[in-house]
Amino acid sequence: MWSLLLTIHGVGPVTAARLLVAVGDNPGRLRSEAAFAYLCGVAPIPASAGRRDRHRLNRGGNRSVNATLYRIAVVRMQRDRRAREYVARRTAQGLRKKDIICCLKRSIAREVFKALTCTNSKESASVTPVFPPKYPTATPCGCAHCWKPRRSGCGGASAHTAGMVRTYFPGDPETGRMAVRSLNAYHDFARHTAAPLALKRLGFMVLFTDEQQIAAFEATHQAQQAAGVQVGLISAREASGLNPLINERAVLAAAWSPEAYHVDGLDIVRGYAAAARNHGARLFTHTPVTCIDDDNTIHTPQGSIKADSIVCTAGPWSGEVASMASVDLPMRPHAIEMLFTDAPPSPHREMPMTMHATSGLRIRSWKDRILLAMGVPKAGEAREAWLGRIAGHLGTLFPALDGIGLQRPWSGDFDASPNNTALIGEHPTRRFLYAAGFTGAGLCQAPAAGEKLRDLLIVKKPAPDTAPTRPRSASSLTTWPTPRPATTSPA
Ligand SMILES: Cc1cc2nc3c(=O)[nH]c(=O)nc-3n(C[C@H](O)[C@H](O)[C@H](O)COP(=O)(O)OP(=O)(O)OC[C@H]3O[C@@H](n4cnc5c(N)ncnc54)[C@H](O)[C@@H]3O)c2cc1C
Repeated sequence: MWSLLLTIHGVGPVTAARLLVAVGDNPGRLRSEAAFAYLCGVAPIPASAGRRDRHRLNRGGNRSVNATLYRIAVVRMQRDRRAREYVARRTAQGLRKKDIICCLKRSIAREVFKALTCTNSKESASVTPVFPPKYPTATPCGCAHCWKPRRSGCGGASAHTAGMVRTYFPGDPETGRMAVRSLNAYHDFARHTAAPLALKRLGFMVLFTDEQQIAAFEATHQAQQAAGVQVGLISAREASGLNPLINERAVLAAAWSPEAYHVDGLDIVRGYAAAARNHGARLFTHTPVTCIDDDNTIHTPQGSIKADSIVCTAGPWSGEVASMASVDLPMRPHAIEMLFTDAPPSPHREMPMTMHATSGLRIRSWKDRILLAMGVPKAGEAREAWLGRIAGHLGTLFPALDGIGLQRPWSGDFDASPNNTALIGEHPTRRFLYAAGFTGAGLCQAPAAGEKLRDLLIVKKPAPDTAPTRPRSASSLTTWPTPRPATTSPA
């Protein structure tokens, strides 16, 4: 409990002690975070009159905890970029500073309640701060109706993937080269990490519904093969042979790449973490970096570390961590929603991951269901309209799935770069290295990215054959690649 409280931004030893004193030795008596908020005097009291909908401050509650939450809020408003953005946004909406602080205190109370009431270390993994986007859960058993929180110890996107590693990236042989190298490393995972890694071959198929897509495929086919990517053009009939759900008449042809596998992202994280520990690395979990000084001193609630080199691989948060070091990494979290279909009318056999080139819709089998993704609703698009678009494509391309029910098992953010290719390199004037912007295909590229970082760290100059995207030299660092439209769904 104590150590968890200290992971909360703005909570130091004294603040943590005050919070513990407030709840006494039986925090379990607090029925809910709303009850805790009431105890702290931060629960808004409805004070609406006539047509005016208003809440007023709660004058009751434990004033010492109230003051403590106030202090945490003030620290965040000074030191936390997300809190500052929140204040700016609410101020623009016309909220008074006093009311904004009330809202902040209320959300901090929610975080504190979670930290105070979690009973064991496993449960601690699920304590997520309010501001970073919350990662809901993946279904351990694979079927939608009995999903439970997944225990992972990894708070990042890697714990919530669709579990696909592939080598073929339409129009992008360089990412394919990284993926081929990474797949070789995954096949060799046990030798490097002494941990087994189950890879189930499924294959990956991209359905072309217009001639231009076929022409684009042919234009990059040689480069794909030169990058070591196994991919070929097949007819609509062959495609429906590989995936019987496909409507042959709706498809002109397809790209087929057999080198695509299902893998559990968490097994990869655990395997590498264990191997790192065996090589003497010390891993600190629940220790967020809150500040980085110019001399590469890193500050965390657990203390500070002076580092020769900093390697930032903070996934969707990489831009934020890099900004702590005054490094501008043009990376942004990109939201994605995964959907399950109801059980299809006829049982389907394991099928390749299949993508529609035009819409980006991807489907794959996930035990008795079909897992699919097609990004998130466009700006201004209602969720129903987005689901309608998905249903439209499903009905046309996979008639057996026409009108099938959709459920949302989980969603998350991945780290998107301006041109959808990984950003790996080093800052020109300080030992700050980064690997991010995998744009929904981080599992596919992780081992190769790790090797590039190693080369940058150790030999400074990467071996000529490794890097598909050359680590940035001082002159090119400032000129970021021109943005290309984001792919709508992960891997
Ligand atoms: C729904 C979904 C499905 C996906 N499916 C696939 C797929 O099938 N195949 C595929 O290849 N890719 C997939 N991706 C993308 C993939 O998950 C990511 O590209 C990959 O996991 C990124 O790994 P990472 O280690 O860079 O980041 P993460 O796994 O996100 O790890 C970043 C770590 O940094 C930590 N961190 C953040 N801020 C701080 C801080 N201030 N201090 C200390 N630590 C911090 C976080 O807690 C986290 O543990 C999917 C992504 C999503 C969201």
